[in-house]
Amino acid sequence: MNAIITITGRTYPTPLFLPVFERNNPYITAPVLRDDFGVRGIITNGFLLYRDRSLREALAGPESRMNVKQLYGFDGLVMTDSGAYQALGGQVYVKNTKIIRFQQDIGADVISPFDHITPPRDNWKVANRKLNDTLKNIEQGLKIADRAILAGVQQGGRYLDLRERSVRALVELGVSYVALGSLVPFFGRNHHIRFAGQVIRQARAIVPPEIPIHLYGAGDPVELPFYAALGCDIFDSSSFVHFARGGWYMTPYGASQTPEALAEYECPCPYCAAHGARVWADERLMALHNLWTIMHVMRCITDLRASGGLDDYLDAVLDKHMRWFPASQLKPSWEEI
Ligand SMILES: [Zn+2]
Repeated sequence: MNAIITITGRTYPTPLFLPVFERNNPYITAPVLRDDFGVRGIITNGFLLYRDRSLREALAGPESRMNVKQLYGFDGLVMTDSGAYQALGGQVYVKNTKIIRFQQDIGADVISPFDHITPPRDNWKVANRKLNDTLKNIEQGLKIADRAILAGVQQGGRYLDLRERSVRALVELGVSYVALGSLVPFFGRNHHIRFAGQVIRQARAIVPPEIPIHLYGAGDPVELPFYAALGCDIFDSSSFVHFARGGWYMTPYGASQTPEALAEYECPCPYCAAHGARVWADERLMALHNLWTIMHVMRCITDLRASGGLDDYLDAVLDKHMRWFPASQLKPSWEEI
């Protein structure tokens, strides 16, 4: 069985989708995630907790009163990130050792080093330097992390040779969790999944099978089964909220802002069953529908991986998706992996 086994000994079978948890979201609360969606794990921004002085004291100060699971009222797997994404804007600096200690002090199960995000515009030399700096932070972090699993974050930008070196170095360092970083800009364009797919396939060939691979930021239900077929186990995203804000209605075959494009699709989710077309006009209902759709696809992936039917499912998705969205790059880019 493939699974994340936490330091406290709890087992979370994969594949797993970790919704990005935002404390201030009034309708996607921890009990809703757990009870209405069967969510077993979440990801949350460790840096934002760190930056809030009263929360920092409450969670990790000398008189700490609670851990992050108690704060959220969520007892499942909690992964935190380090604020590296915020640092991309240039206004954040947080010491690697400090943010790693903080994340494990607050009781997260999987924690993140300060990694150096590498956008596609970075040239080889820059990408190489960021890769080396990220590896240093992971090496440093592995010496500290004894109460949480430290994610070994792969960098390497748009260079497959660097991606390969990165993931080999992570395995050599002895990480027990691999996360593929800086890939969102690649698959964010019209379902062009070739590069992300090549990176996943390459990583899966190098990383031992018992070590899970997490693709940061993947949350479109039409793409998830393809990444899973290539060997990814864990995904995280706030896509369900962002898509809803932009009026995008997700389906397992692609998302659209217009009901006409999806006329063939009958959604089996409880929100569409209860509210019909009103879901399209209500951001809250649309976000709930979107998350339901992601979780539904994740259940399909789990079942199909076990039964061996994932390839047929991918063919069916491609057929329908390309009929509905003829300009999509999903099929051509998939065929190039
Ligand atoms: Zn629905």
